Amino acid sequence: MSFKKNVNLHVTKSAKLLNFSNDLLEHMKSIHSLIKVNVGVVINDKIKNFTGWRAVHSEHILPTKGGMRYDDSVDQDDTEALASLMTYKCAIVNIPFGGSKGGLKINPKNYTEEQLRVITKAFATKLINKGFISPALNVPAPDVGTSEREMEWILETYKSLRPDDINYRGCVTGKPLHRGGIAGRTEATGRGIEEVIREIFRHPDLIKESKLKNELKNNDIVIQGFGNVGSNLAKHLYNRDKAKIIAVGERNGYLFNKNGIDINALNNFYKINKSIKNLKLGEFKDKPSELLELKCDILIPAALENAITVVNVDQIKCKLIIEAANGPISFEADQKLNEKGIMIMPDIYVNAGGVVVSYFEWVKDISHIRFGRVEKRFQEQKILEIIDLIDKKTNTKTDYDTIKNIVHGADEEDLAFSGLEDSMRNAFIEIYKVKKEIKGSFRESAYHVSLKKLRKFYTSDGFPKR
Ligand code: NAD
Repeated sequence: MSFKKNVNLHVTKSAKLLNFSNDLLEHMKSIHSLIKVNVGVVINDKIKNFTGWRAVHSEHILPTKGGMRYDDSVDQDDTEALASLMTYKCAIVNIPFGGSKGGLKINPKNYTEEQLRVITKAFATKLINKGFISPALNVPAPDVGTSEREMEWILETYKSLRPDDINYRGCVTGKPLHRGGIAGRTEATGRGIEEVIREIFRHPDLIKESKLKNELKNNDIVIQGFGNVGSNLAKHLYNRDKAKIIAVGERNGYLFNKNGIDINALNNFYKINKSIKNLKLGEFKDKPSELLELKCDILIPAALENAITVVNVDQIKCKLIIEAANGPISFEADQKLNEKGIMIMPDIYVNAGGVVVSYFEWVKDISHIRFGRVEKRFQEQKILEIIDLIDKKTNTKTDYDTIKNIVHGADEEDLAFSGLEDSMRNAFIEIYKVKKEIKGSFRESAYHVSLKKLRKFYTSDGFPKR
């Protein structure tokens, strides 16, 4: 079953529970606008044709927002599915964006950096000229196969085509800091997922229900995909939560260490070698699909969609699945896992941290000022005054090192992560409340929260109230 059909089955199920009429449901599932482009680029004296898409699922709020994917597997159907997930995701974390997604069918590994720059600029030019990239209408971000590098190329293209747009830096998010990016954006999705996992461990009833061990650090974790999301999540879990990550998988195989992998060493090794095959850190097994079948407590697919389907669902032996990737579990596999009592935290909530911090970046770009720039020193001065007051009242003298540790006005990254944590934790509370009401899964509850919010837009936007 296609990725889009999978997503729409979840939507239909939740919409029925909310008594959506069929016409509203059909409208909600439909893609509002879509562009398919072919870009011809001269490579080694021959014209090479690349096909790309940008889909806008819902324009109920503008701009629309969503990643830009570079992968061999990119097609229209998946792009539409991913665009719709963006709509549902933004509604869950209360981010005022509609949903969009784009992608280019390409294996970036087959091209040089200069060739990719030319291809990206040609692709971006088409999308900008057709109104599919702009700070007011449609704002891409990195996704599979792209990073801040591609965002910078798109930004350069937009600036050269629209030099009179004072908000030009808001045409993409996830760009480098010196181009108007925000501190913390690269890590945001992984960091947001860590907040989700931490939140689960704040709820003893959920630990009991899922049969996890009481403390996060005592649970064996397996992660599929060591790209942006997987590696940053692993970094935070390892360093901030002392988590035991027993296996990390990539396209060519997985690294296994039953005592836990040294993630900092793996990250350093990966940066240089672009591989996880490091025999000092664990045993490398060249059967990538076996990774998902390992016995563990928490399984985190952080690569691509359809990682768990009817083909391998019976082999899954974990207690909790955290959907870091978009659409890693097919609809049928989801039903089976629910029957088996495996708890699933769904993509439309779990990986929303990226769009939350992207929103902060966009706000920064259109307001033309860095977060914390005005108030940081003022905050520090106020803390100093409080310490001074306490010292006077208690007749003590706080030592310099303590003062240095305490006095720290919030800088941009602190504020971005604080806003991220707030968004993820608030959404958790909202979803969990609905879960108890409808007695459903976290996925059903997340869709329920999302569709309920979205319905308000559709019904007040020229449609009769239902
Ligand atoms: P990425 O390209 O940085 O990393 C993906 C990694 O997965 C790559 O290293 C790739 O080699 C690996 N991979 C692909 N197929 C695999 C397989 N079968 N087995 C094991 N590894 C495999 O992409 P990313 O940005 O980390 O995105 C990962 C997922 O998270 C995608 O579903 C994406 O849509 C989603 N997501 C990303 C963001 C973001 O901010 N980057 C935000 C929300 C959701």
